[in-house]
Amino acid sequence: MCITCSVIEGKKTLPGGLLYKDDRIIIHHCIDVNVPGYLVISPIRHVTGYQELTDAELMAMAKGIKIMVSILHKLPDVEKVYILNLGEETSHFHFHIFPRYRWMIDKSNVALFSAEKLDGAKLFSYYRNRNKTSELETIPEINKMIAFIKSQLQCMQ
Ligand SMILES: [Zn+2]
Repeated sequence: MCITCSVIEGKKTLPGGLLYKDDRIIIHHCIDVNVPGYLVISPIRHVTGYQELTDAELMAMAKGIKIMVSILHKLPDVEKVYILNLGEETSHFHFHIFPRYRWMIDKSNVALFSAEKLDGAKLFSYYRNRNKTSELETIPEINKMIAFIKSQLQCMQ
């Protein structure tokens, strides 16, 4: 069984549990990268490609992304929110919702730039590798962020 399907079936614990679940999609915090607010949104159904999503799933994914991006933009240090699908590690279709914080931009770090321009794909990959951890649930900033997102979601209901 894939990791996303085990999350959906409650067989894998997540930092802070599920942030959102309905009959089509789930949203949770990334499980192993210390970037507060780095979220993953997936359809409940195990599909491996965007082209396999139904219209109803597409709409649910799009709305879920919009809500989460809006919440992340309330944080003063978030300058942009990247939305990516890569699918190289996990076959279950998903989007990464990745906040780009002000503190991530280090002009002296050549690993973040291509031809002197900030390279979003490189930045995403750099911080995913650099901030990888197996103890995410013990990091106060992560738990604080999860609580913040949950409270924002409650305000919307
Ligand atoms: Zn799956």
